Amino acid sequence: MKVDLLSLILPKSSSFELRENHHNRTTAEDINHILGTSNLNRKEYNLLLMKYIDDNSSRSSLFDELFDETCEIFLKKEMPKEQGLIRKFLNTAIVESVVERCFVCNGTGVIKTTSSIEDCVHCNKGMFVYDDQVRSHMMKISKKVFLKYKKQYNQIIEKINQIEISALSKIGDT
Ligand SMILES: [Zn+2]
Repeated sequence: MKVDLLSLILPKSSSFELRENHHNRTTAEDINHILGTSNLNRKEYNLLLMKYIDDNSSRSSLFDELFDETCEIFLKKEMPKEQGLIRKFLNTAIVESVVERCFVCNGTGVIKTTSSIEDCVHCNKGMFVYDDQVRSHMMKISKKVFLKYKKQYNQIIEKINQIEISALSKIGDT
């Protein structure tokens, strides 16, 4: 899959809209064919489906496949005492790795009201800004607790990034 095929599975791209109007079914089959013949492992496959066509079942599959490895990351130091912390960390890391577009302003970079247009404070020109405050807020934990395990969080992010790099290289987009 070269860049043009990647843009084909990006919902926002004009080529997708064009194809969607005329060959909706073909597009879905194309994607499945490409993914099915490119030697992707399950994690890579689910990550691409989740990232580029926003497939929810891929997201829960990816979560399941990464959960054991995430536990291992924590086990190297200590298991957290906080209830459900590993699940929260993995969920948030998946979202951060996959969701780039700001969901507050819908990727427009501005918040419009009837009387004004203001820059969206949550993003940089439509790309959502994840910082430690946002991450701990998403996980409903205190920033102090997040910072305690920040190193582990970064390792989870790194793991997911490696899966994406590998997946994209297999489909020929690097
Ligand atoms: Zn925004």
